[in-house]
Amino acid sequence: MKLENIRNFSIIAHVDHGKSTLSDRLLEATGTIEKRNMKAQLLDRLDIERERGITIKSVPVRMKYRAQDGGEYIMNLIDTPGHVDFSYEVSRSLAACEGAILVVDAAQGVEAQTVANSYLATDLDLELVPILNKIDLPSAHPEQVKRELEEIIGINADDAIPVSAKTGEGIPELLERIVRDVPPPSGEAGAPLQALIFDSVYDNYKGVICYVRVMNGTLEAGKNVRFMATGRDYQIDEVGVFKPDMVKVERLGPGEVGFICASIKTIDEAHVGDTITDSAKPAAAPLAGYKKVKPVVFCGFYPVEREDINQLREALEKLQINDSAISFEPENSAALGFGFRCGFLGLLHMEIAKERLNREFGVDLVATAPNVVYQIVQTDGSIIEAHRPSDFPDPVRIEEIREPYIKLSIFMPEQFVGAAMQLCQDKRGTYVAMDYITPERVRLTYDMPLAEFILDFHDRLKSCTRGYASLDYDHTGFRAANLVKVDVLLQEEPVDAFSFICHADQAYHRGHAVVGKLKELIPRQLFEVPVQAAVGKKVIVRMNIKAVRKDVLAKCYGGDITRKRKLLEKQKEGKKRMKQVGRVSIPQEAFLAFMDVT
Ligand code: GDP
Ligand code: MG
Repeated sequence: MKLENIRNFSIIAHVDHGKSTLSDRLLEATGTIEKRNMKAQLLDRLDIERERGITIKSVPVRMKYRAQDGGEYIMNLIDTPGHVDFSYEVSRSLAACEGAILVVDAAQGVEAQTVANSYLATDLDLELVPILNKIDLPSAHPEQVKRELEEIIGINADDAIPVSAKTGEGIPELLERIVRDVPPPSGEAGAPLQALIFDSVYDNYKGVICYVRVMNGTLEAGKNVRFMATGRDYQIDEVGVFKPDMVKVERLGPGEVGFICASIKTIDEAHVGDTITDSAKPAAAPLAGYKKVKPVVFCGFYPVEREDINQLREALEKLQINDSAISFEPENSAALGFGFRCGFLGLLHMEIAKERLNREFGVDLVATAPNVVYQIVQTDGSIIEAHRPSDFPDPVRIEEIREPYIKLSIFMPEQFVGAAMQLCQDKRGTYVAMDYITPERVRLTYDMPLAEFILDFHDRLKSCTRGYASLDYDHTGFRAANLVKVDVLLQEEPVDAFSFICHADQAYHRGHAVVGKLKELIPRQLFEVPVQAAVGKKVIVRMNIKAVRKDVLAKCYGGDITRKRKLLEKQKEGKKRMKQVGRVSIPQEAFLAFMDVT
C-alpha cells in the first residue's frame, strides 16, 4: 500500500458527544461492517463499556474507502475514551496517528474534555478535523459552537462539518475531508524497522498481543525482532490488522496499524510505548515513546477468601497487560491479611479495574478506602512518600506533610456558578479565575487538594449543577497542609484498613461519620464492641455496639428440619461474607461504605 493512500486518525471528544456512534457510521459507510451485523457502539467491546455506555479502551480498526477522486484508501481509525481518568489512553492512540477528528456535540458545545483532548492532539502536531455532531437535534446550535471552538481552542472552525452520527447525515463529506485534510504518513520501507507499541492485550493462546504502528521498515511473520526497552529478541508468529476482529496479513509496512504476536508471556517484555526493531539490522534509536504515567490514587485490594491471593495476583498481572497505568505491590494488613496496594489514575479508573478483575477474571475482592500519595518531610530532613496511612511515621518525627494539588476547570451554564463555587470552597479549593465562554456559559478555575477531589467531588458537582457541568484537571504538584492520620479502633485495637488521612479541621467530623457508619454496619456480637476514632493517642469519637445473642432458630420451633437447615446455611453464607478482625466479624460492606463517608 502506497503511503499517500493511508490515513491514520483518532476520534476525540468530550464524553457522550458521539465518538463511538460516529465510528459505527464510518464502519458502515465504508462497508467494513455489514449493516445486518451492526450494533450500536460496536467498538465498545468490554461488557462494562456496553453497560455503562462509556469507552474505556481505545480500539483500532482498518477500513477501506474509495474516494470521489477514484483512489482507494486505507483508513485506520482509533476510537478513544473521553473520561479524564483515561486520557493516557487517548495520548497513546494519538501518537499512532497523523490526524484527529474532533467531535463536538452541537447541542452542548465545547466541554472540558473537548479542550483537554484537543490540546493533547495539537501538542503532538496532529491535524484537527472539527465536526459538529447531533445536528438532527432541534436544540443544536452549530454556529455558536463554531465560535466556541474558535475562541476557546483557537482553531479555525469555519468549515467544521455538520454531522449526525445518528442519521448518517454529513458522513460522506467527513470521509472526503479525512482524505483531504489528514496528512498521509511518512516513512520508508527500506529503512531499519521502527514500530511503536501503542497498546497490548493478553490472549490465553497467543500470549501478549502488541498493537503496533509501523513508522519505518516492515513487520512480517518469521522475522526476528528486538524490543528496544528490554533488548530481548523474539520471532514473530503472526502479524495482522483489525477489521475490527483480528485478521492475519502477510506484512505491515510503513504507516500501517495492526498487531503482532510473538509468544510473549509477560507485560514486562512488551512495554506499551516501546519500539520494535529488526534484530539483524536494529534502528539507531527508539521512537519517542510515552511519558510514564504515575498513579495518583491508591487503595488496597484484598481477596475475600484469603486463599485466593494467588488468583488475585495473576488477575492483576493480566489486567496490567491491558492497562499499563495500573501499579500494584504486595501488602499485608493486620485486618485483611495479604493483598495488594494498587495505584490508579483516578477513582473511575479504580472502580473499573475492580469491576474488570471481578468480571473478566472472576476475582472477589474487598477494596480499602482510596487515598492519594503524601510527601512527608521528617524531622531529620529526609522526605518519604506515603502510599497508605500506615506509611506515616510517628507524629513526633513529622516536620511537614504535603499533599498533591490539582488545577480544576469546570464548564457550566452561568446559573450554577454560585453552587459550584460553594462546593469548591467546601472542598478546600482556592479560587483562580472565572471566564465567560459565551454569555451563558462559564469556565471556573480552582486549585484544590486531589484528596478532596477524589472523595465525592464529581457526584456532588453533578447534583448541584443538575448534570450540566463538565470538568478537567491537571496535577500541579505538592503543597504543605495541616493533615492528620485518624485511626479507627475496634475493642481498643486499631484496624489498619480503616485508618485515613484528612485535614485536621475535619478529623472530628469524618471520624464521627466513620464510627457511626461502622456501628450501623457491624452486626451485634456476643460481647460489647467499642468503636473509636483517634488521632495519635487522643480518642476523638467513641460509640458502642451492644452485645446480643443471635439465635437464628429461635423463630423456628416445630419439626420442619429442612427449613432449619436452610436457615443455618443462610447464616453460614452470611458469615462467609464477613472479615474476621480480632474477635469481631465485619461485613464486607463496611469496607466499601467506609469510602462514602470519609
Ligand atoms: P461517546 O461517549 O463520545 O463515545 O458517545 P456515544 O457514541 O456513546 O454517544 C452518546 C449518546 O449520544 C448515545 O446515546 C448516542 O446514541 C447519542 N448520539 C450520538 N450521536 C448522535 C447524533 O448525531 N444525534 C443524536 N440525536 N444522538 C446521538
Ligand atoms: Mg464511546
